[in-house]
Amino acid sequence: MRYRPCKLDHLGDPVRHTNQRVRAEEANTGSANDPTSVMSLLFTGETCMPQNGNTSQCTLGGYPSYAVRVTSVFQAQLAVNFARNLGLRLVVKNTGHDFLGKSCGAGALSIWTHHPKSIRFLKAVQTPSYSGPALELGAGVITAELYAAANKHGVTAVGGECEGVGVAGAYTAGGGHSPMASKYGLGSDQVLSVDVVLPNGRFVTASETENTDLFFALRGGGGATYGVVTSLTVKAHPKTAHVSSIVHPSLSLLAVTKICPGSPATSSWRKSWVR
Ligand SMILES: Cc1cc2nc3c(=O)[nH]c(=O)nc-3n(C[C@H](O)[C@H](O)[C@H](O)COP(=O)(O)OP(=O)(O)OC[C@H]3O[C@@H](n4cnc5c(N)ncnc54)[C@H](O)[C@@H]3O)c2cc1C
Repeated sequence: MRYRPCKLDHLGDPVRHTNQRVRAEEANTGSANDPTSVMSLLFTGETCMPQNGNTSQCTLGGYPSYAVRVTSVFQAQLAVNFARNLGLRLVVKNTGHDFLGKSCGAGALSIWTHHPKSIRFLKAVQTPSYSGPALELGAGVITAELYAAANKHGVTAVGGECEGVGVAGAYTAGGGHSPMASKYGLGSDQVLSVDVVLPNGRFVTASETENTDLFFALRGGGGATYGVVTSLTVKAHPKTAHVSSIVHPSLSLLAVTKICPGSPATSSWRKSWVR
C-alpha cells in the first residue's frame, strides 16, 4: 500500500498525548494499528505535528513511502526480495514503540509484521538445555496477548512491563526487560527457536542446534539486524504470582496507567490508588 501523508497517525506518541492531555488510551493503539506510524516524533522528521488539527503543511518526513502488511512467510520473503532487487531502503515495523525510530525510515519500504497473531501452546519441548512447556508466537503478538495466552494455559511467560510492546522484534532482539526478569532472566533468555527470513530471502530456523550463530545474534543483536522474524518459540514457566511497579519520571500516574493498560504494574498501582 502507498502511505498517505497528512494522516496525523503519530498521535500514537505517548509523551505527546501526555503533554497535551489527549486521549491517552490511543497512545497504546494509534501507532500500533498503522502500517508506518511510530511513537517517535524526532525520527519522523517532526512533520505533520498535531497543531490544531492543521494538516496543510504535512509531508512524509521520515516515514516510509510504502508498506507491506505481511501475514505469511511467503509475503515476507516477497517483500525482502522486492526491496533487495530494486535497491530500496527496507525497514521492519510491528508496533512502532521504538523511540530510536528504527521502525521507520524516509522513503523506505516497510514490512509491517503486526498481524500474524497465532499463539500455540506446546506442552513439552525438549532442547539440549531446556525441557518443558513453551509458547510459539506469531511475529505480531504483543505482550498483552502473550500474557493472556500464558494465563489461559496456566503458565507464566516473560514479557515487557508495558503490554503494548511487541515480543518478536527488538524486545527480544534487544534483551527484553520484564517484571519476571529477576526470576527467569531477560526476554532473550526465553527463546528456544526463531523463524526468520534473511536478507537473501531464505527462510530459516535458528535454535541451539540449527544456525547457531544466527540464534546467538538474534538474542541481543538488535531488531531487524539479521532478518525478519516471522515467529518464535519461548519458554513457559510455572504459574507465578507477582506484583511490580514502574515509575516514569516524565509521565503522570494517569498517563502511565493509560499508556500501559492492564499491565501488572499499572493495574496494581491503579488499584492501590483507587482504594
Ligand atoms: C511505552 C513503552 C514501554 C516499554 N516497555 C518496555 C519493557 O517493559 N521492557 C522492555 O524490554 N522494553 C520496553 N520498551 C522498549 C521496547 O521493547 C522497544 O521499543 C522495542 O523496540 C519495541 O519493539 P516493537 O517491535 O514493539 O516496536 P517497533 O518499533 O515496531 O520495532 C522495534 C524494532 O524491532 C524491529 N522489529 C519489529 N518486528 C520485527 C520482526 N518481526 N523481525 C525483525 N525485526 C523486527 C524493528 O525493525 C525495529 O528495529 C518500551 C517502549 C515503550 C515506548
